[in-house]
Amino acid sequence: MQVKEFIPGKIKPIDCRHFIDGDYIDSINLKTFDNINPATEEVIGKVAEGGKEEVDRAVTAARKALKGPWKKYTTKERSDLLRRIGDGILERKEELAVLESMDTGKPYELALEMDITRSAYNFYFFADFLTSMGGESYQQDNVALHYSIRRPVGVVGMINPWNLPLLLLTWKLAPCLAAGNTAVMKPAEWSPMTATVLAEICKNAGVPDGIINLVHGFGADSAGSALTEHPGVDAITFTGETKTGSAIMKAAAPTLKKLSYELGGKNPNIIFADSNLDEVIDTTLKSSFMNQGEVCLCGSRIYVESAIYESFLEKFTARTKELQTGDPFNPATKVGAVISKEHYERVLSYIEIAKEEGGTILTGGGRPDFVDKGYFIEPTIVVGLDRHARCVKEEIFGPVVTVIPFETEEEVLEQANDTHYGLGATIWTNDLRRAHRVAREIEAGIIWINTWYLRDLRTPFGGMKQSGIGREGGMHSFDFYSELSNVTVKL
Ligand code: NAD
Repeated sequence: MQVKEFIPGKIKPIDCRHFIDGDYIDSINLKTFDNINPATEEVIGKVAEGGKEEVDRAVTAARKALKGPWKKYTTKERSDLLRRIGDGILERKEELAVLESMDTGKPYELALEMDITRSAYNFYFFADFLTSMGGESYQQDNVALHYSIRRPVGVVGMINPWNLPLLLLTWKLAPCLAAGNTAVMKPAEWSPMTATVLAEICKNAGVPDGIINLVHGFGADSAGSALTEHPGVDAITFTGETKTGSAIMKAAAPTLKKLSYELGGKNPNIIFADSNLDEVIDTTLKSSFMNQGEVCLCGSRIYVESAIYESFLEKFTARTKELQTGDPFNPATKVGAVISKEHYERVLSYIEIAKEEGGTILTGGGRPDFVDKGYFIEPTIVVGLDRHARCVKEEIFGPVVTVIPFETEEEVLEQANDTHYGLGATIWTNDLRRAHRVAREIEAGIIWINTWYLRDLRTPFGGMKQSGIGREGGMHSFDFYSELSNVTVKL
């Protein structure tokens, strides 16, 4: 196959510099930090470490660009530009997938098919959406006509996590540009490479200087907090941990920035006895262990109706044991390395906590014996935990799931909702009425019935409770990335 012929040798990791006002630049003090490949533990490059000065330069460029030719772009011109960015991503998709895999440890095939391909699609989607969206107007008898106009919010700061680096960045950048804003992006410190290449792709696609800017660095007391505090930033879109969301909210309060949050989750996967077990197992393998379980939507709390609990566990455990963990560039690999040493130790510590809390490990539980380097953790199934156990309550964000039996719909709903998170939920049943009833009762922003991770970019995406603020997707994205003004004309 074409892609495997050039991997891993031909594509080299890149050193990452900031991208400000159309040029790649170093930090003013030339400060850098190491970029580490979590699958090999090797330093693969240097990343410019930005702070207040670099953020200030980026914000100044973005503010200036708001008033430049960009302001006059027609809808068609913006749409065409987005499409060219999408094309640019697809033209370099193998390269981007290699870099994404090296940065994050995720399987190359997954990076190629999910992260990179869907990143291009984010641009195509908003290119189309932009040209077909309508507005709002009300005729008030013969008294007045009211209509609304949209305009850009201004400079948008984008703070991103490391788990789906390009996918989540483009999910923000595409609607941000579609709505006519300018952007200052801050990728996660662990995964800087694809964002760096994206800047070049945007420039080659014809994005005018200053419209998109990129500053690398850390979060607190670094580029992240400089962006959230900067008075020249009008809005912040943030995806990451719930506690980081609180810190950003505090920092953004003095300048009253508009905020959009996609935060953590501890999503229930509820399996009723009348569901199709083979289908359940196929999808539950993905919803548990895709991207090493490092997807905010992973269903890490699995609740199974007692009547099928044993048969579910038997099949699910057998299939989990077949998932190959290891080299992200081996096409047979299904589970790669987790993002960092720190995260590896954190996930392993949760497995220890599970044992201390009385849990039994059915499979997995640690590092695979055949690897001597890299932050690999075997897909792990824990049973026998109390519903209040820490592993059942806290987001682990790794390849670890808990399975708990239940007797009744009321009982499982009570347990599923017993969390301060409210991001996603999956319900498996062939009982039509129950499916809709349970969906209505589950406290989550994204609910799947008999499927998982099936997306239509027009639909509202986001979490309730402490899993987020606001929604993204289709018109919901435009609601964040634009300001609405109502105009009333007296007739
Ligand atoms: P994180 O909150 O540690 O970091 C995310 C980003 O915030 C990074 O770029 C980081 O540098 C920056 N940051 C950290 N502290 C900051 C501060 N004080 N001020 C400004 N910026 C700061 O999250 P992570 O570990 O990168 O990502 C994992 C988390 O993201 C998980 O909780 C996961 O559930 C969540 N997530 C949610 C979604 C969603 O759509 N809801 C999607 C992906 C990931």
